[in-house]
Amino acid sequence: MGLIPYRNEAYLDWADEKNTAAMQEALGKVGGELGKLYPLVIGGREVETDGGIPSVNPAKPSEVVGTTGSATTEEADLALRTATEVFETWSRTAPEARARVLLRASAIMKRRKFEFLAWEKFEGGKPWAEADAQVAEAIDFLEYYAREMLRLKDGVPIYSVPGEESSYFYRPMGVGVVIAPWNFPTAILMGMSAAAIVAGNTVIMKPSEFTSVIGAKVAEVFAEAGLPDGVLNYLPGYGAEIGDYLVGDPRTRFISFTGSMKTGLGINELAAKRGPEQRWIKRVIAEMGGKDAMVIDESADTDAAAFDIVKSAYGYSGQKCSAASRAIIHAEVYDEVLEKVLLNARRLKIGPPDSADVNIGPVISEPQFAKVTSYIDSGDREGERLLGEDPGDGSDGYFVSPTIFATDEKAKVAREEVFGPVLSVLRARDFDDALRIANDSPYGLTGGVYSRNREHLERARNEFKAGNVYFNRTITGALVGVQPFGGFDLSGTDSKAGGPDYLPLHMLAKTVVERF
Ligand code: NAD
Repeated sequence: MGLIPYRNEAYLDWADEKNTAAMQEALGKVGGELGKLYPLVIGGREVETDGGIPSVNPAKPSEVVGTTGSATTEEADLALRTATEVFETWSRTAPEARARVLLRASAIMKRRKFEFLAWEKFEGGKPWAEADAQVAEAIDFLEYYAREMLRLKDGVPIYSVPGEESSYFYRPMGVGVVIAPWNFPTAILMGMSAAAIVAGNTVIMKPSEFTSVIGAKVAEVFAEAGLPDGVLNYLPGYGAEIGDYLVGDPRTRFISFTGSMKTGLGINELAAKRGPEQRWIKRVIAEMGGKDAMVIDESADTDAAAFDIVKSAYGYSGQKCSAASRAIIHAEVYDEVLEKVLLNARRLKIGPPDSADVNIGPVISEPQFAKVTSYIDSGDREGERLLGEDPGDGSDGYFVSPTIFATDEKAKVAREEVFGPVLSVLRARDFDDALRIANDSPYGLTGGVYSRNREHLERARNEFKAGNVYFNRTITGALVGVQPFGGFDLSGTDSKAGGPDYLPLHMLAKTVVERF
C-alpha cells in the first residue's frame, strides 16, 4: 500500500481565531446534544438495558452529558458469543483491508476533531489544549497501528538452514476484552481497540463508567469507518458488575487493560485461572498507575526545570499516569527551584474549560474529588502545604487548585498515586540520594532528570527505574511512534503502546518450516 510516511498529527494553534471559532461552534452544537441515551451496540445492533449509567459534566455536576446503557452479565455473554462468531471471518480478512478501516477512522476523526474536543470538554472536563493533544493521539494511534500491521503482515525475517525455508509470521488471537480508564477517554480507548482490531481480533470494548458517552462516539467512528458488525462491540458497564465476568470467561483470549494498579492486579490474577474447557492461557496486557518523579540536580537550568515541573504536574489537573507527582531537588538548588515552581504554578488559570486560556479544569468525578481531598488532608498532617486552597464541597464542580507540599519521602502523599493536582517536593542530599528516592517506589512509569552533567544523565539512562525516562524536558504527553509508552514493575506489563513491540502482543507468532 502506498501510504505517506507516518507523522504525528499537528496540534491546533489556539492563537488562530479560526480554531477558537470552530471550537465555540462545536461546543454550541454538542451542548445542544447533551442528555441523550446511548444503548449498547453488539453485533451492529443496539441493545437496550434496564439500568443506565448517567455521565455528568465534572465542571457542572448538575449537567447530565448523556446516559449509556449498563451491561449485565446477560449482555456480556451476548457480546462474547458475537465476538467469538465474528472472529472466524474477521481473522481471515486481509491485513490491508483491516488497516484501511483504521485509516478511514483516522480521516473521520480529523473531520470530526472539534466535535470530539467538545465532548472531551463536557464529559472529561478537559482544557482545550489537553483535549486537542488527546484527540491528536487517537489519530496517531490509528495511523501508526495501520502502518505497523502493514509492516508485520508477512512476518519478520529469520534464518533458514540449507534446503529448508523457515518462516515466522503472526496470526490473530481471538476475542479481546478492552478495558479503559477515564483520563484519556478517546485516545486510550481508541488506541487499545485499534491495535486489537487491526491485528485481526474481535473486541468487547468497555469504556470507563465516567466517560462512556465518549466511548459511544469512539464506537460510532469505527462503525462509520466500515468496520464489520460485531468486530467491535460497545459494552459500557460498571467494572465491578461485569469486569470479573468478562475477564474470567473461557471465551476471552486476551485482556487489554489500562487503569489503576488495584484493578490491573485483580484482572491479572483472575485471568490466570483456567475456566471450564478453556484451551489457552489468557494474555494480559495491563498498563497501570505511577508515582512519577522529576530529579533536578545542582547543574540544572532552574528556569526550564521549574517550568516543566509545573507543566508535568498540573496538565489535566495531574490526572495523567505520567504526571510528575514528586519533584526531587538537590539541596543546593532546592530553594531556587521551589521559588520558581511556586511562581509558575500561581500563574495557572483554573476554572471551567470554556475558553482556550484555562489551564486547569475540574477533576473527573465526585469519588476522585474526595480521594484528592483526602490526600491533601494527609499532606497537611505529614508535610507543609506551600500552595493550594482547601477544596470546597465540589457542588459547583470538582475543582482542586494546584497544590504543593514540602514533604519527606516517607509521607503518604509522596508515596501513593494521588491522581490530582498535588505535587510533593523533596530535598535530596546529592544526585545519588535523589536517584535513590526516585527509585524507591513500587511503580516505574515515567521519570525525568534535569541536569547539565553528562555523568548524571548517563547514570540515569541506565539506573532510573521507569519505562519512560525524559531528560531536560517534560515527562508527560508521550507521542505515538516517537515515545513508546509503558511502565516497569507495578506500573504494568511494559507493553509500550505506540511502539514497534505493541501489535505483536495482540497476535500469536507462528514458525513454519518446509524442507525442499
Ligand atoms: P480503574 O482501575 O478504577 O478503572 C479502569 C477500568 O477498569 C474502568 O473501565 C473500570 O470500569 C474497569 N474495572 C473496574 N473494576 C474492574 C474489574 N473488577 N474487572 C475489570 N474491569 C474493572 O482506573 P481509573 O480510575 O479509570 O483510571 C485511573 C488509573 O489509570 C490511574 O491509576 C492511572 O495511573 C491509570 N492509567 C494508566 C495509564 C498507563 O498507560 N499506564 C494510562 C492512563 C491511566
